[in-house]
Amino acid sequence: MSHFLEVSVVTPNGIVYEHHANKVVARTPDGDLGILPRHAPIIAPLTIDEVRVKRIDSDEHVDWIAVNGGILEVRDNVVTIIADSAERERDIDVPRAERAKRRAEELIAEAKAHDDVDELRRATVALHRAINRINVSKHY
Ligand code: ATP
Repeated sequence: MSHFLEVSVVTPNGIVYEHHANKVVARTPDGDLGILPRHAPIIAPLTIDEVRVKRIDSDEHVDWIAVNGGILEVRDNVVTIIADSAERERDIDVPRAERAKRRAEELIAEAKAHDDVDELRRATVALHRAINRINVSKHY
């Protein structure tokens, strides 16, 4: 059995990340989930947050990926993350994320003024996506 993980992040637009790694840390609704080689098989939901990947080909280098929720599966040292969208730190368009953040904040204020629960929920999720992208971009 190999001593490293094969990590991939898949979205409807294709594979956004693929590397061999020593360790993956992702955030689930129950907290951080750390995956090392030989981890037991698992399927877990992810929150809108950052995923950290410690690659085997660089001493202490960590890749950061902003994931828009999704699902993580581990099986036979293969870690697969499937999400509606995901971006590596270096691929994040920061001005776009800042625009999305401002737009979401405006929509939240409007939704609160109109007691629009559905719009409030949508805009709050959009705000989390934007903040997550901004945070992850700072690791670049
Ligand atoms: P926006 O309002 O800026 O489109 P969004 O949160 O609605 O943001 P999503 O629906 O999550 O965007 O993603 C749509 C596509 O655009 C996905 O492929 C996603 O990876 C990409 N994307 C969204 N925001 C950014 C960003 N700031 N930088 C790079 N790619 C982004």
